[in-house]
Amino acid sequence: MAHPVSDTRTPQATASGTAGRGQDAPEQPAAVVARLRATFRTGRTRPLEWRTGQLRQLRALLTEHGEDLAAALHEDLGKSRKEAFRTEVDFTVREIDHTLEHLEEWLRPEPAPVPDFLGGATAWTVHDPLGVVLVIAPWNYPAQLLLAPVVAALAAGDCVVAKPSELAPATSAVLARLLPAYLDAEAVAVVEGGVPETTALLEQRFDHIFYTGNGTVGRIVMAAAARHLTPVTLELGGKSPAFVDRGTDVAQVAARLAAGKFLNAGQTCVAPDYVLTDPETARALESALADAVTALHGPDPAASPEYGRIVNERHFDRLVGLLGSGRTVVGGGHDRETRYIAPTVLAGVAADEPVMQEEIFGPILPIVEVDGLDEAIAFVNDREKPLALYAFTEDEDARRRLSEETSSGGLAFGLPVAHLTVPDLPFGGVGESGMGSYHGRYGFETFSHRKAVLDKPLD
Ligand code: NAD
Repeated sequence: MAHPVSDTRTPQATASGTAGRGQDAPEQPAAVVARLRATFRTGRTRPLEWRTGQLRQLRALLTEHGEDLAAALHEDLGKSRKEAFRTEVDFTVREIDHTLEHLEEWLRPEPAPVPDFLGGATAWTVHDPLGVVLVIAPWNYPAQLLLAPVVAALAAGDCVVAKPSELAPATSAVLARLLPAYLDAEAVAVVEGGVPETTALLEQRFDHIFYTGNGTVGRIVMAAAARHLTPVTLELGGKSPAFVDRGTDVAQVAARLAAGKFLNAGQTCVAPDYVLTDPETARALESALADAVTALHGPDPAASPEYGRIVNERHFDRLVGLLGSGRTVVGGGHDRETRYIAPTVLAGVAADEPVMQEEIFGPILPIVEVDGLDEAIAFVNDREKPLALYAFTEDEDARRRLSEETSSGGLAFGLPVAHLTVPDLPFGGVGESGMGSYHGRYGFETFSHRKAVLDKPLD
């Protein structure tokens, strides 16, 4: 195992956060924040070397304990080893590598032109760390969605309190054990727990709060942050539509839609939530989607080692309640004991049916028929701004209109979900799907303050 970079830790401080420190009572949130703030004030998190050292340590954690994380993700969500590495472990390693490659360049002061009336002066901006930040993660990608913001915060030179989701308890436990062992435990603390623990944390003053989850809790987080005038990033969800135009290659579209939708059993914030298409394309797409599901997971997805499970019984029951909408083209089967819901496609779904009233967040794909692009755009604009909008069309005018006439966190043509793997694209929502963004440079910016500096010589 790689050794933590900090040599200033006391043995007592190694078990940071949740279960307390050593045999002592759990460390109180105020004490955790005070401890990290004291570290921040020493200035030790500022140098590039500290930041890159922490990032390398986190990389070592992932390469040395990828299997532990994959096992925990399997326990929490039935994730296959392959999917756990692809979407959580390796994803985070790539985010670290991109950051290590560019951090020095991001930290360079950027000159700003100075107006003539300030003759002789120069101006520039620098990125200052914010201080002590809080990262609150959800259960669906419980490692990636905790660690990717932590990467950005460490790159920015901040101290971090990381709060994993209690709904993915095995992953939460692995992260709580490993993070303080690999990282500077006086600068990074893990606090495990659910609503009471998070509520207690939110009473503290942070310099930024980064929350990923649903809009109801997003509002609670923002209200708590407002008491301290703390800025927030809210990475939320919503119903991300997929528009399929006439004349597209439905077999290709279906294969990509199914891969994006049924990843992690549909429990992906940017999964295509529903399909909008004309009646004729809908007919062709229905059978193509049935074929695509079989190609992905075989005739019995319950036996597929690559297909995940629903996180808990509450979500299972909620999703089963949505299965009654429209006509079932493929899937529909479910088993409460194993929290299995088959990859399901529902056709001829009306806009007022239950499955169209909330973010599905599970393996159910409704097809809603519209008469063409105009109605599809109106359908999207009549609803909350989604986290992602997907369009399958080669028509340049349709692409331009979708881009200019709708608003969404991200827009992707021809391929769902993958835009978030491009490290130079900001990842985030707009309106009800969230505020702020991260990944790559955007994450570094989110956790930094861009400070304006002016210098006019005294001569
Ligand atoms: P969740 O239930 O795990 O909650 C997220 C976090 O909020 C957890 O750490 C939890 O402890 C905390 N929390 C819950 N209730 C709280 C309360 N009352 N007060 C304070 N903290 C509280 O996850 P979830 O919200 O069910 O996640 C699913 C949602 O997240 C979906 O809407 C999905 O689209 C969205 N999501 C968004 C992204 C993104 O990157 N934009 C990524 C994943 C999930």
